[in-house]
Amino acid sequence: MSLREPWMANMLRDRKLCVVLLTVSGIIAAAHALGISLWRCPFHVCTSLPCPGCGMTRGIVAILQGHWHEAWGHHPFAIVFLAGWLVFLGVTMSPERHRNTAIERIAAVERATGITLVVLFLFVVYGLTRTVVACFDASNAGGLGKLRHPTSTQHHL
Ligand SMILES: [Zn+2]
Repeated sequence: MSLREPWMANMLRDRKLCVVLLTVSGIIAAAHALGISLWRCPFHVCTSLPCPGCGMTRGIVAILQGHWHEAWGHHPFAIVFLAGWLVFLGVTMSPERHRNTAIERIAAVERATGITLVVLFLFVVYGLTRTVVACFDASNAGGLGKLRHPTSTQHHL
């Protein structure tokens, strides 16, 4: 595993994978915007603690509805993942020649900067820190059973 591995470009080369990821995530987000919850995080269901990705769908939908402050409360990385989703959408939908050019440009940026791994590393560090803080909050509040989801408590702080 190389720090300069073009992770995003490698995923983009698999068009079928991109179509599946874009479709599934698009359906989940659209359903959420309509008030239908198609995805419940198994980690949160089992532990009452947020996993690193918890709040991402709500954050992205909030951005699309223009509620930036609310989006930040749900997940600060929502804007980054939305931008990534739009890049995936644009590249996947492009004609083959433009698609290949875009993938090679993205690969070059990734090799030069390692940006994808840097963002994923920060995402995981933020997410795990949030999980640990929620765990301490829960034990201070008298146990995990009393824990509420951090995004639902933030509105009251
Ligand atoms: Zn989760």
